Amino acid sequence: MKEKQSDILIVGGGPAGMMAALLFARAGLTVAVLEKHADFFRDFRGDTVHPSTLELFHQLGLLDELLRLPHSRVDHASVHIAGRAMKVIDFGHLPVAAPYIAMMPQWDLLNFIADQARQYPGFALHMESEAVDLVRDEAGRVCGVVTRGGEKWHARLVIAADGRRSVLRGEAALPLRNIGAPMDVFWFRIDKPEGHGGDVFGTVQAGRFMVMIDRGDYYQCAFLFSKGQADGVRAAGLDAFRASLRSLVPDLGAAFDGITSWDQVKTLEVALDRLERWHRPGLLVIGDAAHAMSPIAGVGINIAVQDAVTAANVLAGPIAGGEDPDPLLEEVYRRRIKPVRRMQAFQKLAQDRVVAPLLRRTRPIRKPFLILRLLNRVPLLRRIPGRIVGLGFGREDIHSPEAASPRN
Ligand SMILES: Cc1cc2nc3c(=O)[nH]c(=O)nc-3n(C[C@H](O)[C@H](O)[C@H](O)COP(=O)(O)OP(=O)(O)OC[C@H]3O[C@@H](n4cnc5c(N)ncnc54)[C@H](O)[C@@H]3O)c2cc1C
Repeated sequence: MKEKQSDILIVGGGPAGMMAALLFARAGLTVAVLEKHADFFRDFRGDTVHPSTLELFHQLGLLDELLRLPHSRVDHASVHIAGRAMKVIDFGHLPVAAPYIAMMPQWDLLNFIADQARQYPGFALHMESEAVDLVRDEAGRVCGVVTRGGEKWHARLVIAADGRRSVLRGEAALPLRNIGAPMDVFWFRIDKPEGHGGDVFGTVQAGRFMVMIDRGDYYQCAFLFSKGQADGVRAAGLDAFRASLRSLVPDLGAAFDGITSWDQVKTLEVALDRLERWHRPGLLVIGDAAHAMSPIAGVGINIAVQDAVTAANVLAGPIAGGEDPDPLLEEVYRRRIKPVRRMQAFQKLAQDRVVAPLLRRTRPIRKPFLILRLLNRVPLLRRIPGRIVGLGFGREDIHSPEAASPRN
């Protein structure tokens, strides 16, 4: 069995793992990232880079370079209901360098972070490396992982950033609290007709709810339905599905004819859960692996990235100074659990009070709900959801050291 060693071993090259890798490598540590896929190119992922994350790139001096990648800007969001378009979210007044959501494919974001991390000599990214088990020393402390290919990796700290179906959190037997969600989502795209454009908007009818994200020449669509009903919707047939989409967005009617096979429609089984403890000696869990977020407000990427920032803020300096990371792991959990709990409570409230009643509803919606009318009428009020969605709770700035010099 081949054996390898690094200061930090990160399992999972998603937003949490890659951001952590960049920050720990920047602090002068050797960092190995193991990613099970051959590349970052998968379209079944979120594409939003929120103002809080853009602010972190600003702090790293990388914002202008990031924004040179193809992206579109979302300054506000609206809801189409009862024949009216109601403005509900405004990001334009947030006190950050880029007060908008940058919509860019997640693979572009991940490749960008990987390119930045490669500037630091300690960074190494190993694609097609799937961790299958933890390695422990005689005292039971986690000291590495084994990959499917039979490699054994050792590290002073293992960071599990392996997503919401994390194998490592299971191996570490960390307690999981399932909060639950009343809906699942069909995720698909349709061509955008010339001249049509609407940033991000939700479109609502009794029993139906869809979010549409303008991605330049296409719309990314998230169609919500009651949990566990995917087979039922499919069984009703594509004609019925297209008809319900047409009734939701009548002016895009013909565009839905482009959905000719269920293969074009992916199912996201929505999960809302979190670990009650994020660490064992030698192991820290972050990102979706520590807390699967509901798609409400599209904050999963940004919370995952914030976990990485906190982990580096708390751990990078001390580990670089030769300290044992174990006594500090609880501090990472303590700083992150409050913002995560608050965002999940917000998502649960929206799920229970808005999404579930809408999906159950059979009576037609005759006029927009009071809260939507208020948000639409009072621009100042729209800044509140703008702040929650755009910046989240308990945002951290980057304080981890830059001890290594970039190569150029
Ligand atoms: C369809 C869809 C739409 C979404 N839309 C949005 C959105 O608009 N905005 C938003 O903020 N969030 C969105 N999300 C959620 C968002 O993508 C996640 O919250 C975010 O990617 C979490 O980042 P992460 O790094 O913790 O985990 P992930 O992004 O899941 O990354 C985990 C990585 O670990 C790798 N991996 C897993 N197991 C192993 C292993 N054993 N060994 C090695 N590698 C492993 C995986 O291949 C993956 O690359 C969406 C999610 C989905 C599925």
